[in-house]
Amino acid sequence: MPALGGRVQTEKGGLVLLPAAMDGVKAAVDRARAAFDTGKTRPLEFRIRQLKALRRMVQEKEKAIAAALKADLNKNSLNTFSYEIMSVLGEIALMVDKLPEWAAPQHVEKTIMTLTDETYIHHEPLGVVLIIGAWNYPFILIMQPLIGAIAAGNAVVVKPSEVSEQTAKLFAELLPQYLDKDLFPVVNGGVPETTELLKQRFDHILYTGNSTVGKIVMEAAAKHLTPVTLELGGKSPCYVDKDCDLNVACRRITWGKYMNCGQTCIAPDYVLCDPSIQNQIVETMRKTLKEFYGEDVKLSPDYERIVNQRHFKRIVGLLEGQKVAHGGEADEATCYIAPTILTDVSPESKIMQEEIFGPVLPIVAVKGVDEAIRFINQREKPLALYVFANDNKIIKRMIAETSSGGVTANDVLMHFTLPGLPFGGVGKSGMGSYHGRHSFETFSHRRSCLIRALKMEAVNKIRYPPNSQKKVDWAKFFVLKRFSKSKIGLVALAVLGLLVAVVIKNRRAILGVKTLLAVLAAQKMWGLTRT
Ligand code: NAD
Repeated sequence: MPALGGRVQTEKGGLVLLPAAMDGVKAAVDRARAAFDTGKTRPLEFRIRQLKALRRMVQEKEKAIAAALKADLNKNSLNTFSYEIMSVLGEIALMVDKLPEWAAPQHVEKTIMTLTDETYIHHEPLGVVLIIGAWNYPFILIMQPLIGAIAAGNAVVVKPSEVSEQTAKLFAELLPQYLDKDLFPVVNGGVPETTELLKQRFDHILYTGNSTVGKIVMEAAAKHLTPVTLELGGKSPCYVDKDCDLNVACRRITWGKYMNCGQTCIAPDYVLCDPSIQNQIVETMRKTLKEFYGEDVKLSPDYERIVNQRHFKRIVGLLEGQKVAHGGEADEATCYIAPTILTDVSPESKIMQEEIFGPVLPIVAVKGVDEAIRFINQREKPLALYVFANDNKIIKRMIAETSSGGVTANDVLMHFTLPGLPFGGVGKSGMGSYHGRHSFETFSHRRSCLIRALKMEAVNKIRYPPNSQKKVDWAKFFVLKRFSKSKIGLVALAVLGLLVAVVIKNRRAILGVKTLLAVLAAQKMWGLTRT
């Protein structure tokens, strides 16, 4: 890790790096690029070895990882294992297992003009990738994209969030012990270090965090035309239909909302429901909270804390003027905010204008699904959308008539756990996606490959000058006509038959345009090429 200690204060009070520290950041990126340029990440065996080393790191250092997360977020080791480590181990296992299949040439459908050619997509590494993580799940938000970027054969510069300081330190200590030191540097620090990093040229940047910094990242990337994946947040709505099992719905919502003290990007931000079920929701959630966290939530080992005083003050500020139906207690010294439910919340109130990112659940009244859909569509596209309903038609309507990064119906958060589903936002909640195969694709360039033989040149006459109406007519036929697989097979068979006939007749003629035209004319007559 480069020595990044040196910063100076500007006249305006900001921090900038001293030249030596700037050089340290640049040197880390340059080393990663030089290592990538050696080509050592290209063989799949190398990537798989690195992934297995990463798995060893997680297994051998599980206690150290848990201790860092305890220090940063008061997460207990069981929750760290369940919500950060287990998914990471699952993702590594999936990559190791599937990488040979995903990295293999992906053959694509041929056209009549390329029938005898090789046509496929080749996944190649992008180069040097920058991964910038956020603090709320500080381990998985670095590890999961890192796994995909390694699998795709990239060098990766890792920038953990400075807010989760202990986890950031641990990354800097552990990654060089297990992974190639040059290919995978960790750069730690805050805004000055990230600003310096963003001046460097990368081949892809994956950023997780808020949308204000997302814009800074995208602007910096644009200077180098670097593509970005932005994993942002937003207000994820949760519509609870009158006709649903409220006991089950409330248990699931309570779990997803108060996990990690509400600091989950896809946590249900607010509930939309008919006013007639509002009190029932409050009562059911109150009972569930007691069951989950006991009489005194403060003493529960399963209840985390707000990450710092800045966020604590922001969340407490959102409670001003609201009707607290449950919770509301807060302790600044320990950054504790009780699981809180607000009722009759006005859509115009402050808490409905920004992502809450804390353990406060506003309930906003809507009259049925139509109003809920209108409410959602009048706002920015969220990262996640939740709908609870017995009637599948309501669920399908919600999906068809709204937009969001992802959806889970009759549960919350769970779409995140499926590696087959791309995880990411849309509109203001982000762009691009990752997880499982989607990570591999995100960090790969899908290179189009067409390999032709230096034969059958006569066929190409149709595209060479001088052009003629006849050539255009046949070109139209070749290009615009759609052939089904079976028909292409028959066409190929007919062409082959003709070739044989030509050879038998011992004509030295090259199979020219005329021959092919004759074949197709014959097929036309037989009605084989009608679509
Ligand atoms: P954060 O404060 O940890 O910041 C994220 C990263 O941005 C850090 O590495 C930090 O160094 C960097 N950064 C901060 N200011 C910067 C600047 N001026 N210039 C350059 N880099 C800068 O995290 P946060 O933004 O508080 O994270 C919370 C947000 O992230 C929420 O909106 C949440 O919904 C979202 N989030 C999204 C996902 C997702 O997967 N979509 C996951 C977690 C969090």
